[in-house]
Amino acid sequence: MNPIETLDHGITRIDSGYVRPALAAFYLVAENGRVAFIDTGTSHSLPLAVAALEQLGLERDQVDYVMPTHVHLDHGGGAGALMAAFPAARLVVHPRGASHLIDPARLIAGSTVVYGEKEMARLFGEVVPIPAERVIESMDGMEVDLGGRPLRLLHTPGHALHHYCVWDVASRGIFSGDTFGISYRELDTARGPFLFATTTPVQLDPDAWLATVDRLMALDPDAVYLTHFGRVGDLDRLANDLRDDLVFDRDLARAHRGDAEPAVAIRAGLQERFLARLEAHGCTLPRAELLELLAMDLDLNSQGLAVWLARQQGR
Ligand SMILES: [Zn+2]
Repeated sequence: MNPIETLDHGITRIDSGYVRPALAAFYLVAENGRVAFIDTGTSHSLPLAVAALEQLGLERDQVDYVMPTHVHLDHGGGAGALMAAFPAARLVVHPRGASHLIDPARLIAGSTVVYGEKEMARLFGEVVPIPAERVIESMDGMEVDLGGRPLRLLHTPGHALHHYCVWDVASRGIFSGDTFGISYRELDTARGPFLFATTTPVQLDPDAWLATVDRLMALDPDAVYLTHFGRVGDLDRLANDLRDDLVFDRDLARAHRGDAEPAVAIRAGLQERFLARLEAHGCTLPRAELLELLAMDLDLNSQGLAVWLARQQGR
């Protein structure tokens, strides 16, 4: 499958190839010969970004903006590599994330705790620093002008404090990063897409996230462009699934507040719920295949909930 797929409204979806095909995307938006990348993949994604420009007949100096929705490395890890390759671009990043991309030392250290040193290099490559003078810090409600097309930035706490979403009025689409959850195409059935929350470490806040979902849905969007993975519709159902998931996940974590190692029981509880939800969704993939497909998310989601739980307990 071609990793570069042109949708409508000047939007191109690029599969970054992070971990496996169809796991993580980033987007190119073009308007009047000007280009924004929303999310970036990792440093390994630069050749794909360049190939997407070439496929559309665009030059590197037509890129105005590089816009990581947040600084988790599958979203913003490639920002420095893209900025180095696109001389006219400015980086648009949440003020809580800016310093991490200007000097990625702490970001790399934090992610190494989650992924381990060997995996860090394989998954993300070298995280390239970005000169501070090329950085624009986002403000909630701020509009970025892409060749006359307004891209509105909304600060969206819940998955992470350093997260914004992009409201693209022209397509009535939201570029949601991780804030509208994850929906893998392998889990599509006759009922449509299957969506779940991504409760990754370390700034998860389920209650703030529930408020953010309401705020995004109040825009009455036609489509959400997920990083994991691709464009989805059927948004009322998916938003309700996301809300249900957040409440379930939060309560599951709280139920294990007395455990010595809460992440273990949380992981088991998440797995049980995944399998039940997928069965109700009409998913017929074998259990072993599902568990392999979801293994990384089960690990990260249970870790994120355990970290949130510890923070609730003042640890
Ligand atoms: Zn994230």
